[in-house]
Amino acid sequence: MSENTNKNTSKAVCIEAHGGPEQLKLVDVTVGDPGPGEIRIRHKAIGLNYIDIYQRAGLYSLPMPLHLGMEASGVVEAVGAGVTHLQVGDRAAYASQPPGSYCELRVMPAKCVCKLPDAISFETGAAMMLKGITVQYLLSKTQPQGGLKAGDFVLFHAAAGGVGLIACQWAKAMGLQLIGTAGSDAKCVLAQQNGAAFAINYAKEDFVARVKEITGGAGVKVVYDSVGKDTFLKSLDCLRPFGLIANFGNASGKVEPLDLGLLASKGSLYTTRPTVFTHLATRESTQAMADELFEMVISGKVNVAIDQRFSLADVAEAHRSLEARKTTGCTILTL
Ligand code: NDP
Repeated sequence: MSENTNKNTSKAVCIEAHGGPEQLKLVDVTVGDPGPGEIRIRHKAIGLNYIDIYQRAGLYSLPMPLHLGMEASGVVEAVGAGVTHLQVGDRAAYASQPPGSYCELRVMPAKCVCKLPDAISFETGAAMMLKGITVQYLLSKTQPQGGLKAGDFVLFHAAAGGVGLIACQWAKAMGLQLIGTAGSDAKCVLAQQNGAAFAINYAKEDFVARVKEITGGAGVKVVYDSVGKDTFLKSLDCLRPFGLIANFGNASGKVEPLDLGLLASKGSLYTTRPTVFTHLATRESTQAMADELFEMVISGKVNVAIDQRFSLADVAEAHRSLEARKTTGCTILTL
């Protein structure tokens, strides 16, 4: 363990109250030594995620002051008692609670931090951990009754986003026919270039009608819906009987309380509202999911597109772009 010295200061992004991007303030913090089960990590790059917007704006309300950010990569600088899977000098990356990755240096629980294979760059590691592990648990573990097999249709909303572009490629590698939705023709092209079998511009097309048309009237086995309020009820109409809707995000707002009778009248449907943090509950499950992601990336089956880079000091601009639907693929904050 290294000693706590005055050298351990860091720039960090903090909010004092929920609100718009103007709440994001770059402050100086002192970073101490890791306690039992913790590490100190010096970041090389930081991932931006839509959950950061919910936490900043207050859709997910958290105690103040709040240090934001759930994803990053870097080098392990100090290791607390009881941590055995990481050593000083290791390259590492994580998707993790508590928030606080928007910084140069932090102390955090080691449980969710994984060694980053040499074949994966720090920038890719920072961009992909939360988003890639999410795709892993959605496509592999959030499946309809009877599972998914090659050739099956799945509907994936916001297919040109960070999670979305990884999902397009991962689904293709599984042999699935992913129907992606996106908010512009250019984003639809991008989704298809990344492996979506079909893409629907839901800003101008009726996605329910198009899904019916593509599937010959049958509907899809599962809808992965992170858009939420604007799409959820229509997504139910895209499902075949016994289909599953997984609402895993709220980019357009929270889904209204659901009349369960709708699940009956629309064909004995199933629904779930999963979060990656349940899946990341143990060190073992985290490592297993990360290993699967590493394999997909190293084998070239999944390319993690970093389409936007902002400096840590420009974090407010990064938030404005993500909220305004101006981004595609992943966005990172650089140091
Ligand atoms: P994205 O890069 O996908 O950005 C969000 C996208 O949502 C936008 O680009 C936009 O794409 C679409 N969107 C639709 N309606 C709106 C709206 N009203 N305002 C803003 N965006 C809208 O973000 P991420 O890759 O970081 O995350 C994708 C989703 O997955 C998020 O909802 C996030 O919360 C969720 N998530 C959930 C997890 C979980 O375990 N439950 C874990 C990780 C992510 P378009 O213009 O094409 O419509």
